[in-house]
Amino acid sequence: TRQPLVVGNWKMHGSHAVNEQLLEALKAAGPLPAEAAVCVPFPYLAQAAERLARSPIGWGAQDVSVHAQGAYTGEVSAAMLADFGSRYVIVGHSERRQYHGETDQLVADKAKVALAKGITPIVCVGETLAQREAGETEAVVKRQLSAVIHTLGPCVGEMVVAYEPVWAIGTGLTATPEQAQAVHALLRAQLAAASPRAGQMRLLYGGSVKPDNAKVLFAQADIDGGLIGGAALKAEDFLAICRAA
Ligand code: 13P
Repeated sequence: TRQPLVVGNWKMHGSHAVNEQLLEALKAAGPLPAEAAVCVPFPYLAQAAERLARSPIGWGAQDVSVHAQGAYTGEVSAAMLADFGSRYVIVGHSERRQYHGETDQLVADKAKVALAKGITPIVCVGETLAQREAGETEAVVKRQLSAVIHTLGPCVGEMVVAYEPVWAIGTGLTATPEQAQAVHALLRAQLAAASPRAGQMRLLYGGSVKPDNAKVLFAQADIDGGLIGGAALKAEDFLAICRAA
């Protein structure tokens, strides 16, 4: 049995003052059925680490440099994330693939450097609306996952995968539980061919997850939790989603 995981992706939201309230409210929540974590903007990593210390809630970042160190202005290394106690890092979010030109191979390399520093990468895959309408969903997510499988080799079982259909992100157009489960089943089968740990791996769904649709999504056989955008910015909503797991 897999412990569900619910991760908040704050994206580029928050301020020191607003985060204080959100983090305190999360910390004050009692025991949750899901493991919970928040992936915050880099400048707030220290704040998250300080506020969530001695709580079961984990924290991490939304991106990581593929380089270990050196003259890479603006980049943040996996060692730096580890320095602040990060448990997770999101890699290959569709917003980074779209707006920052991240390729499947770069995403795979980022997952590898994270694991090497003991940080669990949450690797995002997902098709655009045009790709879904063209019947390419399966081919797209397979290609995205295959780069990671080849690059991580036997360590692949240690990552988390998030299926986030691009058309469902921030749109209110949640994938139906059947649509999401169908892709999750494909991803798990692809992982099973590469790792004996596939059955224990957590596969998250992301894209307009809200308190009122979380339960039916999380009830699907291969959906082990969620990657939450907008609803993660409100403690009440995020905790309700955690409780739906
Ligand atoms: P929303 O929950 O706002 O749709 O965002 C999903 C997402 O991109 C999480 O990474």
